[in-house]
Amino acid sequence: MKLASFLAALLPSLLLYACAATADRATPSAQFSSAPIDPNRLDLITKTLASDAFEGRAPGTAGETKTIAYLSEQFRQLGLAPAGDNDGWTQQVPLIRTQVRLPGTVDVGGRQMRLGEDVYLSTIRPVERARIENAPMVFVGYGVSASERGWDDFKGVDLRNKVAVFLVNDPDFEAAAGEPAAGKFGGQAMTYYGRWTYKFEEAARRGAIAAIIVHETPGAGYPWSTVQAPGGENYDIVRPAGAIQPVLLQGWIQRQLAADLFRRSGLDLEALKREARTPGFRPRALQARLSADIPVQTTRVTSHNVIAKLPGTRYPDETIMYSGHWDAYGIGAPDASGRRVRPGAVDDAIGLAGMLEIARAFTQGPRPERSILFAAWTAEERGLLGSEHYGVNPLFPHEKMAANLTMDILQTAGPARDVILIGQGQSELEDDLARTAARQGRTITPDARPERGLFYRADHFSLAKRGVPVLLLMGIGGGADLVNGGREAGNRWVEDYTANCYHQTCDEWRPDWDLRGAAQDVALLYGIGRELAFSRRWPQWRAGSEFKNIRNQSSAARK
Ligand SMILES: [Zn+2]
Repeated sequence: MKLASFLAALLPSLLLYACAATADRATPSAQFSSAPIDPNRLDLITKTLASDAFEGRAPGTAGETKTIAYLSEQFRQLGLAPAGDNDGWTQQVPLIRTQVRLPGTVDVGGRQMRLGEDVYLSTIRPVERARIENAPMVFVGYGVSASERGWDDFKGVDLRNKVAVFLVNDPDFEAAAGEPAAGKFGGQAMTYYGRWTYKFEEAARRGAIAAIIVHETPGAGYPWSTVQAPGGENYDIVRPAGAIQPVLLQGWIQRQLAADLFRRSGLDLEALKREARTPGFRPRALQARLSADIPVQTTRVTSHNVIAKLPGTRYPDETIMYSGHWDAYGIGAPDASGRRVRPGAVDDAIGLAGMLEIARAFTQGPRPERSILFAAWTAEERGLLGSEHYGVNPLFPHEKMAANLTMDILQTAGPARDVILIGQGQSELEDDLARTAARQGRTITPDARPERGLFYRADHFSLAKRGVPVLLLMGIGGGADLVNGGREAGNRWVEDYTANCYHQTCDEWRPDWDLRGAAQDVALLYGIGRELAFSRRWPQWRAGSEFKNIRNQSSAARK
C-alpha cells in the first residue's frame, strides 16, 4: 500500500483515539495525548528482523548475535537503560538440549515396551543415560493439587522415586452434568492442571523419578502420532543447584497398554477415571514396576534474553513489563522452492516491533511513575525457556510487577472491530483491555476454543506461574471481526496463517500486509500499561484463577 492512501485509511482510527482521550481527561492518566502506534514502523522493524540476514533467529547461532545486537541498539537509541546481567542489555540463559537415542529399553511389569510405539519417553535432565531400576508405579488420577478449588488428588501419598501415572487433561474434561467435578475446571476449557507440563512439574515437585500420561486423543487434543513426532528432542533451562530438578523420564503411554497394565493390577481404567472425577479419589499403587535404560545425548548452548528499562520517576521499584520472543525456527530443511530460513516474521518479529513501538511511545510522553520493562525472550519455541529462566532468576521482584503484557503473533489483515481475549476470567486485566478497547471503538471477543489452552502456551505464562497478572495478545486466538470482510475474513487469515506459514519458511515479511490492525492491538497494550504506570493500582487475579494463591502470598510487598 502506498503511503498516502495508507495514511488516509488510518486517519479515522487516529481521530477516534484522540476523541476518546479528550473524553476521559478527568482521569490522571489521560492528561497527555496518546502517542499512536505507527503501522509503518511496525512494518519496517518486522521486515528487518525477518530478513535472511537474521537467519531465522535460532538460539545459539549467528542469527542470535545479530538479533540481540539489533534489539540492544534500538533500545539504546530510544534512550532506555540496560536492565540485563551486570548492567548490560542481556541476561544469560544457559540451555540444555537432550535427545534420547534409540533403541533404549523400557520394561513395564515384565513386558518390553517399544519406545515410540507403546510408550513415548524423553528426558530434560542433562544425563548420559536415563536409567531407572524397578521403580514402583502409582496411578495418581489427574494429578491435580489445586487448593483454590478444594481439590487434591495426591492425599499426601509418597511419590519419591516412584513412577507417577496420570490421566490426560483435567478432572472435569469428561465429567457429565451433576458429577462432582463438573464445571470445577472450566469445563472443556483447558486449565493449568490439564497441561502435560503441569503434570510433569507436579511429579517433580513430589520427588517422582518419572511421569507418564495415559494418552487419549480427545483429552490430549492430538493423536498418538503427534506425541511421537518430535524425535525425543527436548530443551530446558539449567535449574539452579538446590532447586527442584525435573523427573528423569517423562512421556506418554498408549491407552490400550495402560488399560492392560491396570487390569493386571485388578483395576479397570474406565472405573478409575470415574473415581478420579471425584474429590475423594486416592492414588493407587500398581502391581507393576518400571525399568528403563535409555542413552541420552546432551548438549549445552548459552542464549540470551534482551532486557531494557525506562525507570519510573516516583515508584521505580514497581514495574510493568512488555514482552515478546525474539527467537524463531532458524534454518531447516528446504521447502518446495528451496528456501531454508524460517524467518518468524509474524511469530514473533511483529511482537518485537510492537514492543519497540511501545518503548518509543513511552519515551515521547511524560516519564512514567512506575518503571517500564521491555523483555525480548529467547527460546520460546523450545518451550518458553527464556521467560522461564527469567521466572526462576528474576532481575526485578515478581511481587512488585503490576502486569506482564505479551505480544506473540499479531494479525496482518488490517483494522478490526474487536480484539480476541485469551484466558477469559483470569484477571482484572481483561477489564483494562475492554476499557481501553472501547476508547478505540472496539470490543473484546473471548477465544472461541479455550480447550486449546493458548493461555498456557506463550511466555506470559512463565510470569503468571509466579503470580504476576498477565495479558496476552495472540492473533491466532481466533479470527478478528475485520473492518474489511468481517469475522469470515478474520478466520480466513488465521486458518491460512496456521495451516501454511506457522513455524515454516512462509512466515515471512510481505509487501501486501496491512498492519493497521496490529497497530491497534499494540496501542491497546500501550494504553493499558500507560494507565498502570501512572496509577497505584495492582490488578488482581480473579477468584478461581490458578495463580491467585501465589500472588496472595506476596500481598504484603504491595502495601
Ligand atoms: Zn510465538
